[in-house]
Amino acid sequence: MMNYHPFVIPFTVGALFLFGVVFYKFYAWIAALDRKQKFMVKQNIFSFKTIRAIGEIFREALVHHNIYKKNPVLGYMHMSLAFGWFLLIVVGKIKASLYAGTFFEPPWLGIFFNFFAVDGHAFSYGEMLTFTMDFLLLIILSGLALAIIKRVKSSLLGMRKTTKHSRFDRIALSSLWFIFPLRLMAESTTASLHGNGGFLTNSVGHLIPSAIAPYAELPLWWAYSISLFVFFVALPYSRYMHIPTEVVLILLRNWGADTGEQLSGYTDIQLNSCSRCGICIDACQLNFAAGISDVQSVYFVRDARYKTLSDEVVNNCLMCGRCSNECPVGLELTLVRQQFRNKQEIPGKFYYEYTEPVESKAGVDVIYYAGCMTHLTPSIIISMKKIFEAAGVNYWFMDEDKGVCCGRPLRQQGFIQQSKNLVIKNSRIINSARAKLLVTSCPICYKSFREEYNLNLPVMHHTEYIEGLLADGRITLNASNVTVVYHDPCELGRGANIYEQPRNILRNFSLIESDYEKENSLCCGGSLSDAILDLRLQLKIRDHALGELTKDKPEVLVTACPLCKKSFVHGNKARVMDIAEIVAGNLKVIARKKQSVRKEELQLV
Ligand code: SF4
Ligand code: SF4
Ligand code: SF4
Repeated sequence: MMNYHPFVIPFTVGALFLFGVVFYKFYAWIAALDRKQKFMVKQNIFSFKTIRAIGEIFREALVHHNIYKKNPVLGYMHMSLAFGWFLLIVVGKIKASLYAGTFFEPPWLGIFFNFFAVDGHAFSYGEMLTFTMDFLLLIILSGLALAIIKRVKSSLLGMRKTTKHSRFDRIALSSLWFIFPLRLMAESTTASLHGNGGFLTNSVGHLIPSAIAPYAELPLWWAYSISLFVFFVALPYSRYMHIPTEVVLILLRNWGADTGEQLSGYTDIQLNSCSRCGICIDACQLNFAAGISDVQSVYFVRDARYKTLSDEVVNNCLMCGRCSNECPVGLELTLVRQQFRNKQEIPGKFYYEYTEPVESKAGVDVIYYAGCMTHLTPSIIISMKKIFEAAGVNYWFMDEDKGVCCGRPLRQQGFIQQSKNLVIKNSRIINSARAKLLVTSCPICYKSFREEYNLNLPVMHHTEYIEGLLADGRITLNASNVTVVYHDPCELGRGANIYEQPRNILRNFSLIESDYEKENSLCCGGSLSDAILDLRLQLKIRDHALGELTKDKPEVLVTACPLCKKSFVHGNKARVMDIAEIVAGNLKVIARKKQSVRKEELQLV
C-alpha cells in the first residue's frame, strides 16, 4: 500500500484507544451533570457564549495566557508544548493533504510525512510548509528542554515546588520526553538519506554519519511511533488528560455550569482539568509558612481523581481561596473541596441547637447580626453600637443576648443538613422582622446570608454599611495621621470581592500599602475551616502574615473580620483593630436625632 509501513501501527492503535477512552469519559461526565448544569448547557449552547468559549480555549488551553501572566517562562513552556504540537498536527495535515492531493489521506501521513515523502517538497507550498514544520519542532524542543529543567530544578523556572508524579504520569512524561527528540532524529536521518528535510532536520541530518543512517532510519521511525503509542495509552490516566478536558471545562463554564453543592460530572471535569502545574503549591500558606507540602489543591485534586483521598488531604485546608485565585485553569478549588467535605456528613447527629428561642422584633429599619466570633471580640460590638447611635439608626441587635450561629462553620466542616436547619430557623426570624437591611460584622456570616439564605432584605457587611454612612454624611470622621495597614480577610476579599469599601473608609487615615493585599492577601491562620491544623502551625501562619503586614511598621493593623482580629491581636506585633473600632474611635459628630435607613438601602428593598 502507498504511504504505509507497519511502523504506523503503534501510533494508529494508540490514537484509536485515546479517542475511544476520552470519548467514553466525556460521555459519562456529561451524563452525570446535575439538572441545573444540564439546563444551563441547553440554554446557552447555541449562543454567543460558545464563541466566547472558543476564544478562551485558544487563549488558555493552547496559548496558556494565564500561566504566562503569572510566570512567563512557565507559560512559554506550556505554550510551546501545547500550541506548538497543535500547530504541528494542523500544518502536518495540510502538508499531507496537499501532497496526497486529497483531504482523505491516511491519518498517519501527516505524522510520518518525511518518511513517505522522500521526493522532497515537490508540491504547492511544500518548501514553506517544511520550513514551518521544522520551526515548530524547534519551538517544541525548547519547551521540552524547559520541562526537563523544571523537573530537575524547579527553582530555575521561578517555582518553589514542583508536583509529585503518579505512575501513569511518569509513563506519559517519559514517553513525552522521547517523542520529539525521536521525531527530530527520525526526520533528520531520512533527510540525510534523501535531502527532504528543512533547515533543522537537514542540518541535524548532516551530522549523522552516512554509514549509520540507512540502518538507523527505520528503528528511529518505529521508536517514534511506539513513543506516541505509549503516550496516547497513558494520557487518559495521567495528568495529561487535562489537555482535552480543559476544553470541555471552558465550554461548560461559559455556558453557565458551576460547581454546586453535590459531586457531579462537572466535579470530575474539574478534577481532570488540573494540569498539575504546581502554581497552587507556591500560593498556599500551609506550604510556605507552615512547611506542609502534601495537602495542597494539586494533591487534593489528584487524589480525588484517583479516589485515594485521605481525611488529612480533604480537611487540612484553610479554605482561604489563595489557590483558586492563582489557578490558571480557573478551578473552583475550595468549592470542590467543600463538596468532598459534604460527603462526610453524619446523618441524624445534631451539633448545634438554640439554647433559648430568639423572638423576632418588628418595626426596625436595620437588623444587626454580630455573629458568634464577634461576640468573642466585644469591642467590635461596642463600636458598631456607637456607629448606629451616631447615625441615628433604628436597629435591632438580633443576637445580642442569645447566641445564634449562621450555620457556615458547620457547612465548611461538611455538616450540611445541620447547617440547613440553622439557616431555616434564622431565615424565619430575620424575614418576619420585615426590616429593610441586615448588617453583619462577620465576613463568614455575610457570605452565608448572601449565598445560603433566602432573605427578604438586602445584606451588608459592616464595611459596606459604614462606607455608605460616611458617603451620606450620616457620620463623619476626624482626620488622622495614624499610619494603618489593612488586612483583607479572605472571606470578605477573595470570597466576596469587597476590597474598595474598607479602603474608602481608611482614606481618613494614613494608609500604607502591603505586598499581600487584595487578591493576594494572606490568611490569618485562624480559619475555622481547618479543624485539624496543629495550633503551633496555625501560629506560624499567623506570625508570618503578621510579619509581612507590619513590615513597614504601621501604628495600627486594621481588619474587618472578628476572627482575623482575634488571631492577630495575640501576635503582639502592632495594635490590631477592626475597621468598626477605628471608625468609632474617630467619630466627629454624634447625631442626636434618630434617622431612618438611608435612601440607597431603601431602593434595594
Ligand atoms: S489546581 Fe490549578 S494551580 Fe493547582 S496544579 Fe492544578 S491547574 Fe495548577
Ligand atoms: S484554600 Fe488556602 S490553605 Fe487550602 S489549599 Fe488552597 S491555598 Fe492552601
Ligand atoms: S479569620 Fe479572616 S483571614 Fe482568617 S481565614 Fe477567616 S477570613 Fe481568612
